[in-house]
Amino acid sequence: MLEEEKKKLIATLRKKGIRDEKVLKAIYQVPREKFISPALRKYAYDDNALPIECAQTISQPYTVAYMTEQLNVKSGDKVLEIGTGSGYQSAILAKMGAEVYSVERIKKLHEKARKLLSELGYNVRLKLDDGTIGWEEFAPYDRIIVTAGAPEIPESLLKQLKTGGRIVIPVGSAEHQRLYVIDKTVKGYSRKVFHHFRFVPLIGKEGWQKY
Ligand code: SAM
Repeated sequence: MLEEEKKKLIATLRKKGIRDEKVLKAIYQVPREKFISPALRKYAYDDNALPIECAQTISQPYTVAYMTEQLNVKSGDKVLEIGTGSGYQSAILAKMGAEVYSVERIKKLHEKARKLLSELGYNVRLKLDDGTIGWEEFAPYDRIIVTAGAPEIPESLLKQLKTGGRIVIPVGSAEHQRLYVIDKTVKGYSRKVFHHFRFVPLIGKEGWQKY
């Protein structure tokens, strides 16, 4: 039953343009139903964002797939995620062989994700903090993914990115954002701007001050 729903979701993602087989395989393998409340489990493989605790969301599978595809992760890459939320995106990155570091500002979500990811056997390093200032201790990172909407790109995150690295981040107003893909090169930064998305706000020192 669940297998059928998973296959249907993968077919939907392919139809919407996701081509990276590694991303599709990870989405197929990570049990999304474990990252949401039991009452919503029947919707686990619908292509929709779902509410989690503390008025936050687990992103739509298409958004996760699109952002992960844009991130272009290789096995062994050191990846920093800002906005652990349910822990689902972290699990996808870990499944793809990345060394994952993820920061969440809400204690309850951080603790729940820590417990779940460890129960499921994902080796992800988690921190409770304001992720707009990054995670200096383990910098620099090959890739940085921000899963909340920012008013602008936090300077600290750019600083903690390796030369040759990439950051994927939704930037815009509180209501809607566009996905920025930024590459750090020896000559500076190159920027591509993609799709419109709607994320919960990135709140912090280098994000939204209040919301
Ligand atoms: N990646 C998550 C997942 O797979 O479930 C979805 C993340 S949810 C759309 C955005 C998360 O970003 C929320 O849990 C929110 O609390 C968190 N967040 C917002 N501002 C933050 C900040 N400054 N530092 C860390 N986390 C932040």
